[in-house]
Order: sequence, then structure tokens, then C-alpha cells
Amino acid sequence: MLDKVVIANRGEIALRILRACKELNIKTVAVHSTIDKDLMHVRLAHESVCIGPPSPLQSYLNAPAIISAAEVTDAVAIHPGYGFLSENADFAEQVENSGFIFVGPTPQNIRLLGNKLAARALMQKMGIPCVLGGEGALSDVLETQYALAKKIGYPIILKAAAGGGGRGMRVIHSEAALANAVAITRLEAKNAFNDPAIYMEKFLEDPRHIEVQVISDGQGHAIFLGERECSLQRKHQKILEEAPASILTPALRQDMGERCVNVCLETGYRGVGTFEFLYQEGQFYFIEMNTRLQVEHPVTEMVTGIDIVKEQLSLAAGEPLSVRQEDVTVRGHAIECRINAEHPMHFTPSPGVVTFYHPPGGPSVRVDSHLYTGYVIPPYYDSLVAKVITHGETRSIAISRMVHALEEMVIEGVDTLIPLHKEILHDTAFLEGHIHTHFLERKLGIS
Ligand code: ADP
Repeated sequence: MLDKVVIANRGEIALRILRACKELNIKTVAVHSTIDKDLMHVRLAHESVCIGPPSPLQSYLNAPAIISAAEVTDAVAIHPGYGFLSENADFAEQVENSGFIFVGPTPQNIRLLGNKLAARALMQKMGIPCVLGGEGALSDVLETQYALAKKIGYPIILKAAAGGGGRGMRVIHSEAALANAVAITRLEAKNAFNDPAIYMEKFLEDPRHIEVQVISDGQGHAIFLGERECSLQRKHQKILEEAPASILTPALRQDMGERCVNVCLETGYRGVGTFEFLYQEGQFYFIEMNTRLQVEHPVTEMVTGIDIVKEQLSLAAGEPLSVRQEDVTVRGHAIECRINAEHPMHFTPSPGVVTFYHPPGGPSVRVDSHLYTGYVIPPYYDSLVAKVITHGETRSIAISRMVHALEEMVIEGVDTLIPLHKEILHDTAFLEGHIHTHFLERKLGIS
């Protein structure tokens, strides 16, 4: 097993990784920005290194500072968590070239599967259906753009090839808006991801977001851990996830899972990963692959009993996959509510002092959070401050446990999404499972 790991992230996921390391007797190094010195995992780690000022560019995205921290602490590996440098192939390469293990896929895996356009082309080659769209990057010629959009049919969606986190996407309903939207999306893609390549896809009206979790050891073994449904979103970002997806038939689940496993085997994929699909009228359409740990991984852990982060760490140590496909059983239902420090209706971030914090508890309730009373939520980073996950024998039991958990939970001093989640959990359409990716924005009257 690995001897010492640098946790190159912050907040709840840094704490989650720290806990997995502790269980595996791996020593930990927390790297943090100046403002994050009081983060929970920084206090609990064996060692900590300050890597720069609050601005992510100068700290959590500062590859040389992170690699230096690994050098000075004699760590053997770097775990990137999610976001920040987790899907950056150049970073993975620098880590490896500096003699450390990147806890994640190989740089080649990330280049091939982490880029939306490259992944789309590969899936098509492997017979996995993709959303109707153009082949390759969008042409610069306006007439070609108009012709393609007409062929696909409005509404269409423009996407940055290197995009992620709900950014770099724009929906267009008519030809009149196309030229301007292409220019803005290209500029955004260049600024946010340093890659101006964009592409065009049909914008599906009422799809569900369903994703398949895979683990592959790059040594000839790969498995899938069922799927998650993440249709409750705002601004193309998930806020409530569940496993399994209640709409899937066992045959479709098996078929999708096997296809994803085949891609992992064909590409020699190493690590955990998620194949994301849109599902509409009985048909799956691939949209992208995330070559990293996902925020919503706990719902899969709750229904399978498999610790995805521990598996990730042992794969990084070069060990083969310890679980066989026949050992994976999905039991009951799990739900995760993302508790962001944001206004529950208009989603403006709400940084500040948490004057009182009380997490919920009880059977089958899990809370992944770095919060404590007196913690100051800084304005520089993602607003996710806690994830509440509940499990039950059925979906309705998991929902009922979540309702009670959120009633117990207290976060004072800042706005959070708790009131919004409470409303969703009482919504008749949600309770009946009639959800899709535009459900929440329509319910809130913002789409
Ligand atoms: P990101 O990488 O930024 O997370 P994704 O490609 O995974 O972006 O898409 C995020 C969400 O955007 C999807 O879950 C879905 O709600 C919406 N979306 C993406 N592509 C389409 C599409 N072709 N039609 C309708 N909605 C889409």
C-alpha cells in the first residue's frame, strides 16, 4: 500500500480522502491555501504544507507548489480529489515525471476520455450512442455552422470540448442567436479551459441524467458499480443524486454497464471513472466521461457497500482490482443532498461564519462535511459545504430518512440549500420519480 499521500484538494472531499487513507494506514499531507489553514482535514492530517494565497490559481491549481510539497514531505502519491487539477492530463504527467504516483488515470487515459470531443468520437467508434451532433470541432465558417444546426434541428447546445462543472455550455433556440452564441462560447472556452474548441449537439428537452460508475485496474479487470441518477440540477449542475436510477430495467442496466466496462478494457483505463448519459424515451446517449472521483460517489457506496476511495488508493498502489463483477450487488436505495452555502432560491453564494453547526445522525444517515461551529466559509471556492446521504430498503424509506435528517441538521450564520431540498423532498412529481434535468429550474420558474 502507499506510504504517504498528498491530498491536493480542500473541503469535504479532502476530509473524505483523509479518512480513507487513515483506514488504510496511509500517512497524509494536507496542502492548503493561507485562508484554509483551519480546515478540518488540515488539523487531522499527519502533516500540512501551505502552498499559496487563497486564489485557486496560486494554490490548488499551482502544480509546482503541490509537487514541491510532495517532495519536501517524502510523500509517494498525490490524490487530486475532484475539480481543481483532477482531470488535468498535464498535471498527471508532471506528477509522474517528478517520480510520484497520480491517484487517478494515466495522462493518456485523461487525454483520450476526459476531453468531451475525443471521448465522443471514441464512444461512437465503440458503438455507444451519443446525442445527435456534429463530427469533431465546430467549423469557423458561419455557413457551415448554420447548416449543421439546421440539420440537427433547434434547440441545440454548444459545448466546450474541454468543459466541465456546468461551464462552457450554451443552449440556442433559433438561428438568429447562433453566430453570437458561438463567439461567446468559444471565448469562454478559451478563457476558462485554455482551449477554444467547441462542438454542437441536439439539446434534449426532458432527459434524465444517468451515469455509470466504473472501476478499472488497467491490468485487464474492470467492473461497474451500477448507476446513479442525477437529474435534479440547476445551471447544469447537480444538487440531488440517487442510486439506483428507478427508471432502468435490469437488462438496460446490464447492457450499459457492460458497454462501459468494455471501453475501460479496450483503452487500458486505470482508476475510477464515470460515464455520463442522457436518457430519454428508453434510449441512452453518451455525453461525457469523468476520469476522476465524483462528488456523488457516496450514493454508490451506500448501495454497494464498496468504498470507492479505498479502491482508488489501492489501484494507485498497483494492486489489482479486489472486487469481481459477481460480487457487486445493489441493495436498497440511496439519496444525496448537496448542501451548498448558497441562497436556496437564487443560488447566490453565501460565505461567512458558521455560527452554529449540528449534523444529523441515526441509522443509514451519512454526512460528509468539513463544517464545525465557528468555521468561516471563504468566498474563493466552490460553495459545497456538506453532503447528506441516506439509505433505505426502498426509495421512499431513503427519502423519508432524508426528510428527517434535514430537519435535524442545523447550519446557522449562512444561507444553505436545505430549505430547497426540503421542498423538493415533498414534491409529488419527485416522490413519484417523474424527474428530468429541467425539473428543478421549471419548478423554480427560472427556465
Ligand atoms: P459538465 O462537463 O460541465 O458537467 P455535461 O456534458 O456533463 O457538462 O452536462 C451537464 C448537464 O448539462 C447534463 O446533465 C444535462 O443536464 C445538460 N446537458 C448536457 N448536454 C445536453 C444535451 N445535449 N441536451 C440536454 N441537456 C444537456
